Amino acid sequence: MLKVSGAAVAGASLLGLEACASEGAAGVRKAAGKKILVIGAHPDDPETGAGGTMMMLKKAGHEVVSVYMTRGERGIPGTGLEESARIRTAEAEDACRIMGVRPLFMTQIDGASEITPQRYEEMHNLILTEKPDIVITHWPIDSHRDHVICSALVLDAWEKLGKCFELYYFEVCAGIQTRHFFPTDFVDITPVRDLKVKATFCHKSQKPEEWYDEEHGRMDEFRGMQYNVKYGEAFVRFHRTVAKGSVLDL
Ligand SMILES: [Zn+2]
Repeated sequence: MLKVSGAAVAGASLLGLEACASEGAAGVRKAAGKKILVIGAHPDDPETGAGGTMMMLKKAGHEVVSVYMTRGERGIPGTGLEESARIRTAEAEDACRIMGVRPLFMTQIDGASEITPQRYEEMHNLILTEKPDIVITHWPIDSHRDHVICSALVLDAWEKLGKCFELYYFEVCAGIQTRHFFPTDFVDITPVRDLKVKATFCHKSQKPEEWYDEEHGRMDEFRGMQYNVKYGEAFVRFHRTVAKGSVLDL
């Protein structure tokens, strides 16, 4: 269980992580709050995948940044790329205002994201500049190419920067987009779930009234049920080493 607010369920703690100052180029140990980047491919990915956790982390005194790899340029049928980007940027900014987090936009294009040396560099430099303690991004097994690419770019930065931040994965639209996802950590988002819905509904162009209840609403309930709370979000933590006693503990 990721414990972000003294929740009753015991387990591994997101915030009990080892700081990375001694391990990597980007690491800066902070005396007080941690810094968390939630990196999604499109506007509404951080909100739907980890919006409740982002707000719980914020309430616990940590700094949270919502990073959008694209501005959702192809997300409004019949609308041009530039106009869609303008509309969806404004929607993401509204959602971030509700969540109390800072939005940050990268420069890839929705539906045409790339893995190139320059794109690796862009993600690397963003993380180097922001110096996060924790990054939460897309699970790599996903039906949306942009999600897969976002995940790969973050993983590469993690490797190249000496694994100097804790890496977690979120799920979006489970079963349809994110697949084969077996969580290691859960967060009780019940206290902020109404705000998570409100933030997601800022993305009016995506018509959340047509899918929230059936997709992310059910996920919020299912992940909550698994840990005996009303609403939850689930994550996979990338462990840097195998557990002691594992057959792989060579
Ligand atoms: Zn997406």
